[in-house]
Amino acid sequence: MMKILVINSGSSSIKYKLFDMPAELLISKGTLEHIGEKGSKFADHYSGLKTILEKVDSVQAIGHRVVHGAEKFKKPAQVNAKVINGIKECCAIAPLHNPANLSGILACQKLLPGVKQVAVFDTAFHQSIPEHAYIYGLPYDYYQRLKIRKYGFHGTSHEYIAAEAGRILKKPLKKLKLISCHLGNGCSITAIDKGKSVDTSMGFTPLEGLVMGTRCGDVDPALVTHIMGKEKISSHEMERILNKESGLKGISGISNDMRSLEIKANAGNRRARLAIDIFVYRIRKYIGAYLSVLGGLDALIFTAGIGENQASVRSRICSGLFRYLRKKPAIIVIPTNEELMIARQAYKLIGTPR
Ligand code: ADP
Repeated sequence: MMKILVINSGSSSIKYKLFDMPAELLISKGTLEHIGEKGSKFADHYSGLKTILEKVDSVQAIGHRVVHGAEKFKKPAQVNAKVINGIKECCAIAPLHNPANLSGILACQKLLPGVKQVAVFDTAFHQSIPEHAYIYGLPYDYYQRLKIRKYGFHGTSHEYIAAEAGRILKKPLKKLKLISCHLGNGCSITAIDKGKSVDTSMGFTPLEGLVMGTRCGDVDPALVTHIMGKEKISSHEMERILNKESGLKGISGISNDMRSLEIKANAGNRRARLAIDIFVYRIRKYIGAYLSVLGGLDALIFTAGIGENQASVRSRICSGLFRYLRKKPAIIVIPTNEELMIARQAYKLIGTPR
């Protein structure tokens, strides 16, 4: 038995779950918010984690979510000086996420010296994507010098729900072709063949792909410089608009929250209806593409806030979608549990004799 604390350090929040492994028993969980904000009781990640460690006891290992592992981390890694340096290097291409993840790791090192830590990367599951799917149509030199390529995100969630789907279908992953849709505030869709990610909608950053709560997803890259010139806005401001003012929120002009949009759309609001139509259409388009990537499909899986709870959206996505397939795929809803997946991976790496 091993008590594993799973930490998800965001820029202004820390989420935690304590598991007893390998029984997968959830002992406690919680979220601290406003980390590092003015007037907050948590000046930084160190003070936030100190509070968490006062609430939990007998922690024997810690699993951390780390957003970006680039090409360096193809699987979970036990934290040591080399791994910390590697995560630091990845900060250059993930400046919004990795620094906060790293702060959590460093704070735990200080607070619980000697307790083993494992870093689990959102990008790792997608490292199996083949070159022809991850290289962009840009000068190849940018890949070599600047590491510009598709990385993909939400990997821990996609890997978890694929494993659960295998269990539900009572088939080994090696025999399954799956498409998994993680539809929360951030949304991504992944083609999974024999348990391995072969393509995913998010790219160099989590901005590419589906229309999300506040992110635009795929757009013509030429419009970015066009808008910047017309509106006289900086690259920083443009990035903020594409990440925070677009997607469902930008199209509807009402909200990034799919529940509110459904209520408005049902009451006759045209822009709310349009935002949902665009959201659904983009997902259907990707499913069509991934059907041809996979050359068949055993199951379409839905997870996260919208995927788990909004049957109306799921049914619009699936309506008539598999009309032309001889063998109809299963459609499954699976609640995601990224923290449990991190605990499983940490336990596999350090809790079991090898
Ligand atoms: P995040 O990516 O921030 O973790 P979630 O997975 O919580 O996001 O998904 C948030 C989205 O799911 C919102 O658009 C919200 O309206 C929608 N949603 C629908 N039903 C629920 C629910 N019961 N709980 C949480 N979110 C829900």
